[in-house]
Amino acid sequence: MLDEFQSSQKIAYQMLKNSGTKQAFSHAYLIDANHYPRKLEFAMGLAKFILCPYHYSNNKQCNMCSQCQRIDDGNFTELKIISPDGSWIKKEQLEELQKQFSTKAIESKNKVYIINDAEKMNVSASNSILKFLEEPEPGIIAILITDNMYQLLDTIISRCQVISLSKINSKELSNSSSITSVEKIGFFLAKTGKDYQSFVQNDEIKEQIDSVIQFVQELESNGKQVILKENKLWTSHFRDKEQNDFGLEIMLLFYKDMINQKIGLPIEFMDDYKEILKQLAESNTMKQICQKIETLIELKKHLRVNANNNLLIDQLILSFQEVGV
Ligand SMILES: [Zn+2]
Repeated sequence: MLDEFQSSQKIAYQMLKNSGTKQAFSHAYLIDANHYPRKLEFAMGLAKFILCPYHYSNNKQCNMCSQCQRIDDGNFTELKIISPDGSWIKKEQLEELQKQFSTKAIESKNKVYIINDAEKMNVSASNSILKFLEEPEPGIIAILITDNMYQLLDTIISRCQVISLSKINSKELSNSSSITSVEKIGFFLAKTGKDYQSFVQNDEIKEQIDSVIQFVQELESNGKQVILKENKLWTSHFRDKEQNDFGLEIMLLFYKDMINQKIGLPIEFMDDYKEILKQLAESNTMKQICQKIETLIELKKHLRVNANNNLLIDQLILSFQEVGV
Protein backbone atom coordinates (compact mmCIF):
# COMPACT_ATOMS: atom_id res chain seq x y z
CA MET A 1 0.00 0.00 0.00
CA LEU A 2 1.31 3.33 -1.03
CA ASP A 3 -0.29 4.89 2.04
CA GLU A 4 2.19 3.11 4.29
CA PHE A 5 4.84 5.43 2.91
CA GLN A 6 2.99 8.62 3.64
CA SER A 7 5.39 9.77 6.32
CA SER A 8 8.58 7.89 5.44
CA GLN A 9 8.57 8.94 1.75
CA LYS A 10 6.65 12.18 1.96
CA ILE A 11 7.68 13.82 -1.32
CA ALA A 12 7.42 10.71 -3.49
CA TYR A 13 4.10 9.79 -1.91
CA GLN A 14 2.57 13.20 -2.43
CA MET A 15 3.69 13.40 -6.03
CA LEU A 16 2.18 10.03 -6.90
CA LYS A 17 -0.96 10.60 -4.95
CA ASN A 18 -1.56 13.80 -6.91
CA SER A 19 -1.20 12.07 -10.25
CA GLY A 20 -3.46 9.28 -9.00
CA THR A 21 -6.21 11.62 -7.99
CA LYS A 22 -6.04 13.27 -11.40
CA GLN A 23 -5.70 9.87 -13.08
CA ALA A 24 -2.69 11.30 -14.86
CA PHE A 25 -0.06 8.61 -14.51
CA SER A 26 3.21 8.88 -16.37
CA HIS A 27 3.89 6.00 -18.76
CA ALA A 28 7.20 5.24 -17.06
CA TYR A 29 8.54 5.77 -13.54
CA LEU A 30 12.11 5.36 -12.48
CA ILE A 31 12.44 4.82 -8.76
CA ASP A 32 15.83 6.14 -7.70
CA ALA A 33 15.84 4.07 -4.53
CA ASN A 34 18.91 5.23 -2.61
CA HIS A 35 19.34 1.74 -1.10
CA TYR A 36 15.94 2.04 0.52
CA PRO A 37 15.31 -1.58 1.61
CA ARG A 38 11.55 -1.39 1.06
CA LYS A 39 11.93 -0.21 -2.53
CA LEU A 40 10.13 -3.20 -4.06
CA GLU A 41 7.29 -2.84 -1.57
CA PHE A 42 7.05 0.81 -2.53
CA ALA A 43 6.89 -0.09 -6.23
CA MET A 44 4.23 -2.71 -5.49
CA GLY A 45 2.25 -0.08 -3.61
CA LEU A 46 2.44 2.16 -6.65
CA ALA A 47 1.41 -0.70 -8.96
CA LYS A 48 -1.60 -1.42 -6.79
CA PHE A 49 -2.44 2.25 -6.74
CA ILE A 50 -2.47 2.24 -10.55
CA LEU A 51 -4.24 -1.08 -11.05
CA CYS A 52 -6.92 -1.15 -8.37
CA PRO A 53 -10.15 0.35 -9.71
CA TYR A 54 -11.28 1.45 -6.29
CA HIS A 55 -8.15 3.07 -4.93
CA TYR A 56 -9.13 6.46 -3.62
CA SER A 57 -12.29 6.40 -5.70
CA ASN A 58 -14.16 7.34 -2.56
CA ASN A 59 -11.05 8.68 -0.91
CA LYS A 60 -10.51 5.45 0.98
CA GLN A 61 -7.69 3.00 0.51
CA CYS A 62 -8.88 -0.27 -0.96
CA ASN A 63 -6.67 -3.33 -0.56
CA MET A 64 -9.75 -5.56 -0.45
CA CYS A 65 -11.03 -5.88 -4.01
CA SER A 66 -10.21 -8.91 -6.11
CA GLN A 67 -7.47 -7.00 -8.00
CA CYS A 68 -5.73 -6.01 -4.79
CA GLN A 69 -6.02 -9.52 -3.41
CA ARG A 70 -4.64 -11.12 -6.52
CA ILE A 71 -1.76 -8.66 -6.66
CA ASP A 72 -0.91 -9.69 -3.09
CA ASP A 73 -1.11 -13.37 -4.04
CA GLY A 74 1.16 -12.79 -7.04
CA ASN A 75 -1.30 -14.00 -9.66
CA PHE A 76 -2.62 -10.85 -11.22
CA THR A 77 -1.89 -11.26 -14.92
CA GLU A 78 -1.58 -7.57 -15.69
CA LEU A 79 1.29 -6.98 -13.31
CA LYS A 80 4.70 -8.41 -14.16
CA ILE A 81 7.81 -8.19 -12.06
CA ILE A 82 11.19 -8.73 -13.63
CA SER A 83 14.29 -9.31 -11.53
CA PRO A 84 17.83 -10.26 -12.56
CA ASP A 85 18.19 -13.84 -13.75
CA GLY A 86 21.60 -14.54 -12.21
CA SER A 87 23.69 -11.39 -12.39
CA TRP A 88 21.85 -9.81 -15.28
CA ILE A 89 18.44 -8.96 -16.64
CA LYS A 90 18.44 -10.51 -20.08
CA LYS A 91 16.89 -9.49 -23.34
CA GLU A 92 14.83 -12.69 -23.43
CA GLN A 93 13.09 -11.74 -20.18
CA LEU A 94 12.00 -8.44 -21.67
CA GLU A 95 10.95 -10.00 -24.97
CA GLU A 96 8.76 -12.41 -23.04
CA LEU A 97 7.22 -9.45 -21.19
CA GLN A 98 6.55 -7.55 -24.40
CA LYS A 99 4.88 -10.60 -25.88
CA GLN A 100 2.65 -11.03 -22.84
CA PHE A 101 1.77 -7.36 -22.81
CA SER A 102 0.94 -7.17 -26.51
CA THR A 103 -2.72 -7.97 -25.89
CA LYS A 104 -5.12 -5.45 -24.47
CA ALA A 105 -5.63 -5.36 -20.68
CA ILE A 106 -8.75 -7.27 -19.70
CA GLU A 107 -8.61 -7.25 -15.95
CA SER A 108 -8.01 -3.54 -15.47
CA LYS A 109 -7.57 -0.30 -17.37
CA ASN A 110 -3.79 -0.53 -17.22
CA LYS A 111 -0.98 -3.04 -17.25
CA VAL A 112 2.10 -2.51 -15.13
CA TYR A 113 5.57 -4.00 -15.25
CA ILE A 114 8.21 -3.55 -12.61
CA ILE A 115 11.90 -3.98 -13.38
CA ASN A 116 13.77 -4.48 -10.15
CA ASP A 117 17.51 -3.68 -10.10
CA ALA A 118 17.14 -2.08 -13.52
CA GLU A 119 20.85 -1.20 -13.65
CA LYS A 120 21.45 -4.90 -14.16
CA MET A 121 19.95 -4.88 -17.64
CA ASN A 122 22.70 -5.91 -20.04
CA VAL A 123 23.26 -3.93 -23.25
CA SER A 124 20.76 -5.80 -25.37
CA ALA A 125 18.15 -5.76 -22.59
CA SER A 126 18.64 -2.00 -22.22
CA ASN A 127 18.12 -1.48 -25.93
CA SER A 128 15.08 -3.64 -25.92
CA ILE A 129 13.45 -1.77 -23.03
CA LEU A 130 14.39 1.53 -24.62
CA LYS A 131 12.36 0.67 -27.69
CA PHE A 132 9.45 -0.24 -25.45
CA LEU A 133 9.73 3.11 -23.66
CA GLU A 134 10.15 5.12 -26.85
CA GLU A 135 6.88 3.98 -28.30
CA PRO A 136 4.65 3.86 -25.23
CA GLU A 137 1.43 2.02 -25.76
CA PRO A 138 -1.52 3.50 -23.97
CA GLY A 139 -2.32 1.69 -20.76
CA ILE A 140 1.12 0.15 -20.23
CA ILE A 141 3.02 1.64 -17.32
CA ALA A 142 6.64 0.86 -16.47
CA ILE A 143 8.17 1.07 -13.02
CA LEU A 144 11.95 0.72 -13.02
CA ILE A 145 13.78 0.46 -9.70
CA THR A 146 17.47 1.13 -9.25
CA ASP A 147 20.00 2.00 -6.59
CA ASN A 148 22.48 3.19 -9.21
CA MET A 149 20.59 5.45 -11.53
CA TYR A 150 23.68 6.58 -13.42
CA GLN A 151 24.42 3.06 -14.55
CA LEU A 152 21.32 3.28 -16.73
CA LEU A 153 21.41 4.67 -20.25
CA ASP A 154 20.70 8.42 -20.31
CA THR A 155 18.11 7.74 -22.96
CA ILE A 156 16.25 5.46 -20.55
CA ILE A 157 16.39 7.98 -17.70
CA SER A 158 15.11 10.78 -19.91
CA ARG A 159 12.02 8.79 -20.82
CA CYS A 160 10.97 8.20 -17.23
CA GLN A 161 9.58 10.33 -14.47
CA VAL A 162 12.19 10.00 -11.73
CA ILE A 163 10.93 9.39 -8.21
CA SER A 164 13.72 9.73 -5.65
CA LEU A 165 13.26 7.90 -2.38
CA SER A 166 14.73 9.08 0.89
CA LYS A 167 17.11 6.88 2.80
CA ILE A 168 15.46 4.78 5.47
CA ASN A 169 15.57 6.24 8.97
CA SER A 170 16.28 4.13 12.02
CA LYS A 171 12.74 4.44 13.36
CA GLU A 172 11.19 3.00 10.23
CA LEU A 173 13.88 0.36 10.15
CA SER A 174 13.15 -0.95 13.61
CA ASN A 175 9.38 -0.71 13.20
CA SER A 176 9.07 -2.46 9.90
CA SER A 177 8.49 -6.19 10.05
CA SER A 178 8.95 -6.62 6.32
CA ILE A 179 12.65 -5.81 6.57
CA THR A 180 14.77 -8.88 7.17
CA SER A 181 17.38 -9.21 9.90
CA VAL A 182 20.09 -9.23 7.22
CA GLU A 183 18.88 -5.86 5.91
CA LYS A 184 18.67 -4.38 9.39
CA ILE A 185 22.16 -5.57 10.27
CA GLY A 186 23.44 -4.38 6.89
CA PHE A 187 22.00 -0.95 7.47
CA PHE A 188 23.57 -0.79 10.91
CA LEU A 189 26.98 -1.88 9.63
CA ALA A 190 26.79 0.54 6.69
CA LYS A 191 27.27 3.31 9.25
CA THR A 192 30.67 1.80 10.03
CA GLY A 193 31.65 1.88 6.38
CA LYS A 194 30.48 -1.49 5.07
CA ASP A 195 28.90 -1.50 1.62
CA TYR A 196 25.22 -2.08 2.26
CA GLN A 197 24.32 -3.43 -1.15
CA SER A 198 27.06 -6.05 -1.40
CA PHE A 199 26.31 -7.03 2.20
CA VAL A 200 22.63 -7.77 1.69
CA GLN A 201 23.23 -9.47 -1.65
CA ASN A 202 25.87 -11.84 -0.31
CA ASP A 203 24.22 -15.24 0.25
CA GLU A 204 26.93 -16.30 2.65
CA ILE A 205 25.95 -13.56 5.13
CA LYS A 206 22.55 -15.11 5.81
CA GLU A 207 24.19 -18.49 6.41
CA GLN A 208 26.71 -16.90 8.75
CA ILE A 209 24.00 -15.19 10.78
CA ASP A 210 21.92 -18.40 10.95
CA SER A 211 24.98 -20.23 12.12
CA VAL A 212 25.76 -17.72 14.89
CA ILE A 213 22.20 -17.98 16.17
CA GLN A 214 22.38 -21.78 16.16
CA PHE A 215 25.70 -21.58 17.94
CA VAL A 216 24.21 -19.33 20.62
CA GLN A 217 21.27 -21.68 21.03
CA GLU A 218 23.57 -24.68 21.49
CA LEU A 219 25.84 -22.79 23.83
CA GLU A 220 22.94 -21.60 25.95
CA SER A 221 21.28 -24.99 26.21
CA ASN A 222 24.20 -27.42 26.23
CA GLY A 223 27.06 -25.32 27.60
CA LYS A 224 30.50 -26.74 26.91
CA GLN A 225 29.03 -29.47 24.70
CA VAL A 226 28.90 -26.89 21.93
CA ILE A 227 32.61 -27.59 21.42
CA LEU A 228 31.53 -30.71 19.52
CA LYS A 229 29.72 -28.51 17.01
CA GLU A 230 32.21 -25.67 17.05
CA ASN A 231 33.67 -26.56 13.69
CA LYS A 232 30.33 -26.88 11.94
CA LEU A 233 28.70 -23.81 13.49
CA TRP A 234 31.59 -21.44 13.83
CA THR A 235 35.05 -22.29 12.50
CA SER A 236 33.86 -23.29 9.04
CA HIS A 237 31.98 -20.01 8.60
CA PHE A 238 34.36 -17.61 10.30
CA ARG A 239 37.82 -18.27 8.99
CA ASP A 240 39.86 -15.13 9.37
CA LYS A 241 40.13 -12.28 11.82
CA GLU A 242 37.61 -10.08 10.01
CA GLN A 243 35.02 -12.83 9.77
CA ASN A 244 35.46 -13.74 13.43
CA ASP A 245 34.91 -10.13 14.33
CA PHE A 246 31.72 -10.16 12.25
CA GLY A 247 30.53 -13.33 14.02
CA LEU A 248 31.07 -11.70 17.40
CA GLU A 249 29.26 -8.57 16.20
CA ILE A 250 26.21 -10.64 15.25
CA MET A 251 26.25 -12.32 18.62
CA LEU A 252 26.51 -8.94 20.30
CA LEU A 253 23.48 -7.62 18.40
CA PHE A 254 21.59 -10.75 19.37
CA TYR A 255 22.29 -10.26 23.08
CA LYS A 256 21.43 -6.58 22.84
CA ASP A 257 18.09 -7.58 21.35
CA MET A 258 17.69 -10.01 24.23
CA ILE A 259 17.76 -6.98 26.52
CA ASN A 260 15.13 -5.26 24.34
CA GLN A 261 12.98 -8.35 24.55
CA LYS A 262 13.39 -8.53 28.30
CA ILE A 263 12.34 -4.96 28.97
CA GLY A 264 9.59 -4.91 26.37
CA LEU A 265 11.24 -2.65 23.77
CA PRO A 266 10.92 -3.42 20.04
CA ILE A 267 13.41 -5.92 18.63
CA GLU A 268 16.01 -4.00 16.63
CA PHE A 269 17.72 -6.62 14.50
CA MET A 270 16.70 -10.17 15.19
CA ASP A 271 13.04 -10.31 14.15
CA ASP A 272 13.77 -13.40 12.08
CA TYR A 273 14.82 -15.24 15.25
CA LYS A 274 12.10 -14.01 17.58
CA GLU A 275 11.21 -17.38 19.11
CA ILE A 276 14.77 -18.24 20.15
CA LEU A 277 15.26 -14.71 21.39
CA LYS A 278 12.15 -14.90 23.53
CA GLN A 279 13.11 -18.23 24.99
CA LEU A 280 16.65 -17.13 25.86
CA ALA A 281 15.51 -13.80 27.27
CA GLU A 282 13.41 -15.80 29.71
CA SER A 283 16.14 -18.19 30.77
CA ASN A 284 18.78 -15.49 31.33
CA THR A 285 18.71 -12.85 34.03
CA MET A 286 19.44 -9.26 33.05
CA LYS A 287 22.74 -9.49 34.89
CA GLN A 288 23.76 -12.58 32.96
CA ILE A 289 22.94 -10.98 29.63
CA CYS A 290 25.00 -7.91 30.54
CA GLN A 291 27.94 -10.03 31.61
CA LYS A 292 27.80 -11.92 28.33
CA ILE A 293 27.73 -8.66 26.39
CA GLU A 294 30.79 -7.47 28.32
CA THR A 295 32.57 -10.72 27.47
CA LEU A 296 31.80 -10.25 23.79
CA ILE A 297 33.09 -6.68 23.80
CA GLU A 298 36.28 -7.82 25.55
CA LEU A 299 36.81 -10.61 23.02
CA LYS A 300 36.31 -8.21 20.12
CA LYS A 301 38.97 -5.92 21.57
CA HIS A 302 41.25 -8.87 22.12
CA LEU A 303 40.77 -10.04 18.55
CA ARG A 304 41.85 -6.67 17.25
CA VAL A 305 45.24 -6.72 18.99
CA ASN A 306 45.90 -10.42 18.91
CA ALA A 307 46.89 -12.17 15.72
CA ASN A 308 46.05 -15.64 16.98
CA ASN A 309 42.33 -16.21 17.06
CA ASN A 310 42.39 -20.01 17.44
CA LEU A 311 41.52 -19.84 21.08
CA LEU A 312 38.93 -17.13 20.74
CA ILE A 313 35.86 -19.35 20.59
CA ASP A 314 37.08 -21.68 23.32
CA GLN A 315 37.57 -18.64 25.51
CA LEU A 316 34.09 -17.45 24.65
CA ILE A 317 32.53 -20.81 25.51
CA LEU A 318 34.31 -20.94 28.86
CA SER A 319 33.42 -17.39 29.83
CA PHE A 320 29.76 -17.96 29.01
CA GLN A 321 29.83 -21.20 30.94
CA GLU A 322 31.06 -19.30 34.02
CA VAL A 323 28.24 -16.78 33.73
CA GLY A 324 25.74 -19.61 33.36
CA VAL A 325 22.14 -19.60 32.17
ZN1 LIG B 1 -8.37 -2.70 -4.62
